[in-house]
Amino acid sequence: RAHMARGLPKQKPITGVKEVIVVASGKGGVGKSTTAVNLALGLMANDQTATVGLLDADVYGPSVPKLMNLRGNPELTDNNLMRPLKNFGIPCMSMGFLVEDSAPIVWRGLMVMSAIEKLLRQVDWGSLDYLVIDMPPGTGDVQLSITQNIPIAGAVIVSTPQDIALIDARRGAEMFRKVNVPVLGLVQNMSVFHCPKCNHQTHIFGTDGAKELACTLGVEVLGDIPLHLNIRETSDKGQPVVVSSPDSPEAEAYRRVASAV
Ligand code: ADP
Repeated sequence: RAHMARGLPKQKPITGVKEVIVVASGKGGVGKSTTAVNLALGLMANDQTATVGLLDADVYGPSVPKLMNLRGNPELTDNNLMRPLKNFGIPCMSMGFLVEDSAPIVWRGLMVMSAIEKLLRQVDWGSLDYLVIDMPPGTGDVQLSITQNIPIAGAVIVSTPQDIALIDARRGAEMFRKVNVPVLGLVQNMSVFHCPKCNHQTHIFGTDGAKELACTLGVEVLGDIPLHLNIRETSDKGQPVVVSSPDSPEAEAYRRVASAV
């Protein structure tokens, strides 16, 4: 908190990047990374000429390598910058490329901060229209540090419709507001389950919780993503639903989020 008392450090854009969109959540496990990946792919699907990158800033639990089916060590450029790894047309950078899969990520304090600093400043993105950042869950020092270091066009907050997730989502929205990052809106995830056998619809985590929160906060609902086996399975295979089943309603739901941001 001490550095805050001395005023915000000056924000510096990431070289080559036009707009940064962060994807955040109050809690873990609500589908933030899945949304970040499919949002990045959705931005590209909606506008084939757009250049989109993906930065996994979830240093404690990086999931972009698995979701984007990428592994390996980034090469260094002549300028000593890391070259992102690319799949599905999206250059990606993640702490997961820099440490062993099995290595426990137990950095604390300064080590995490220096990792974040590297991921923000020492990557050769080339020229990007959008950089989607998959944030760590919650509202800690890492999130604060990112918002203070780079200009951010807007934040997308992912929540399930449950009260317990919504309380934390609200805290997230309030943090962004305090640091003057526009909250683009909420994505309500896992709202409805369509039984593939009988077509019955079940609202497992409640119905409209995120919608009510969006209303209270005065922000938009950017989309409503169903709880669907196809999303889980394609994610686990590293074949995100927007590219592997582009004609499915699930992919359509993510593309709608992409056109709403
Ligand atoms: P977070 O980044 O918030 O921790 P993830 O994106 O890793 O959450 O998602 C957690 C788990 O839930 C993953 O196994 C993912 O495949 C699954 N998941 C996320 N969204 C959905 C959805 N709409 N339908 C089915 N499974 C989902």
